[in-house]
Amino acid sequence: MAFESLTDKLQNVFKNLRSKGRLTEADVKEAMKEVKRALLEADVNFRVVKSFVKTVTDRAIGQDVLTGLNPGQMVIKIVKEEMESLMGSEMTELVIKQGNEITVFLMAGLQGAGKTTTCAKIAGQLKKKGKKPLLVACDVYRPAAIKQLEVNGAKQGVPVFTMGDKQNPVDIAKASIEHAKENDNNIVILDTAGRLHVDESMMEELQNIKANVDVTQTVLVVDAMTGQDAVNVAKTFEEKVGIDGVILTKLDGDTRGGAALSIRAVTGKPILYVGMGEKLEDLQQFYPDRMTSRILG
Ligand code: GDP
Repeated sequence: MAFESLTDKLQNVFKNLRSKGRLTEADVKEAMKEVKRALLEADVNFRVVKSFVKTVTDRAIGQDVLTGLNPGQMVIKIVKEEMESLMGSEMTELVIKQGNEITVFLMAGLQGAGKTTTCAKIAGQLKKKGKKPLLVACDVYRPAAIKQLEVNGAKQGVPVFTMGDKQNPVDIAKASIEHAKENDNNIVILDTAGRLHVDESMMEELQNIKANVDVTQTVLVVDAMTGQDAVNVAKTFEEKVGIDGVILTKLDGDTRGGAALSIRAVTGKPILYVGMGEKLEDLQQFYPDRMTSRILG
């Protein structure tokens, strides 16, 4: 990730705030106008920007900030706190069942978002933690997807369950749970089919899997580089299928940051991980505080 433009602009605003010994309400409002512009240019959701700026302004003007020591510094602190809160404040982990119970992750997302790669990345991380994951090829529409999962699974040393491309995804998912029980796998990762755009049949398929399999968490994979499109996709999936969290891929190539800053606020669901490259180890847990520090520079 390189949100240079956003970071530069916010740092400029902060420099101005710090340079003033005393701040008036007008100074704060002027600074917030610039923050607003910077966030909009970074492709942050319009409503999110509006509410963020309002909260920061109210806090900065309402409390004893302006009459206290270092008002500039205090305003900057408020921006930082509100930005962390926008992204969820705390790091959120995938929920994993204890003991011998099988945890099932339903992985969803549009074609090309990085779903198959991310499934393998997660499987590798869970394996390192001592879990026994099983990757499952439920994308029966793209034969290449099955092969891709097999190749990536092999690289991670994680078994891949497939039934070819002639079965329906619900049957594959059900059979994979039985397979996991028989083979001592305690985590099942279902790699489902994506489409180029959100469509009804994709949503129905996910709903069917959820209705027939005891899914522990539904995780949506979206491409950070698509900005507000990623946010809209997440909103639709949340409404139609219900999701527990989001993985934001290709953050390494994202120069703006709009998706990272909007998704939590728009969908109410946390970012669980971020993809930082094509390699299978390039998956990082998402910490709102660290992300805020990187954005604010
Ligand atoms: P799917 O169609 O959603 O299953 O997407 P794939 O897993 O096939 O990924 C599509 C492309 O995105 C591949 O070329 C991946 O290597 C690439 N990709 C996935 N995640 C990341 C990431 O975090 N960063 C970068 N730079 N590329 C990624």
